[in-house]
Amino acid sequence: MRSLGLERYRRVVVLTGAGISVASGLPTFRGPGGLWERPGATIVNASTMQSDPGRVRSLFDEMRALALRAEPNAAHRALARAEESLAARGSTLTLLTQNVDGLHQRAGSQNVVELHGSLFRVRCSNPACSTEPVLLAASHSGVASACSSCGATMRPDIVLFDEPMAAKPEWDAKRSLRECDLFVAVGTSGTVSPASNFVRSAAYAGARTILVNLEPMSPAHPDFHEQILGRAEDVLPRLLESA
Ligand SMILES: [Zn+2]
Repeated sequence: MRSLGLERYRRVVVLTGAGISVASGLPTFRGPGGLWERPGATIVNASTMQSDPGRVRSLFDEMRALALRAEPNAAHRALARAEESLAARGSTLTLLTQNVDGLHQRAGSQNVVELHGSLFRVRCSNPACSTEPVLLAASHSGVASACSSCGATMRPDIVLFDEPMAAKPEWDAKRSLRECDLFVAVGTSGTVSPASNFVRSAAYAGARTILVNLEPMSPAHPDFHEQILGRAEDVLPRLLESA
């Protein structure tokens, strides 16, 4: 596999999913061994958040502890290096991630759009309240705090199964896709949202589009021009290597 020749691109957008963090030892949400598949696990959606907020908080506390023990792997590091070398030439790499584990930032990536929120923030549960999300201390455990503005309970700043993406990351993602000239999706299914929508926008903008994943697309998405099968931590360092 050859390098992409990253230096030829000006506006690079990379979408990452759970597959990129597997080599760091983090379980995926779904699939074998995933957190949602464990005995007694429930799908965490907006109604579980209402009916059993303590359980939702403790699940996310557990995931945060796992994420803190994990280390970024070669795929996370390759993306951080690529961003840096593009920035040195006045180009950009925007990282859109479905992951909530914070590993991209710990690897050194700066321009990260967290589509599904973060394990390391809480936000006010009152939809009418406009207070910004709050960072959690690393030592945080389980206790629900109250919003400093309206007094409502704070909740994980995570997009649950039946909840829409927050407006800001959705806007940032769309804006980056409108002007991108290279789009790479890694460790996520190319045929379901958001990858399936994002690649349409990228292809419409005239970008070269590539899917890197373990599994081949079935059926293939017509807007992905290339597909590279393999583990993110093996493929990305070579693909993103500077000439
Ligand atoms: Zn509030």
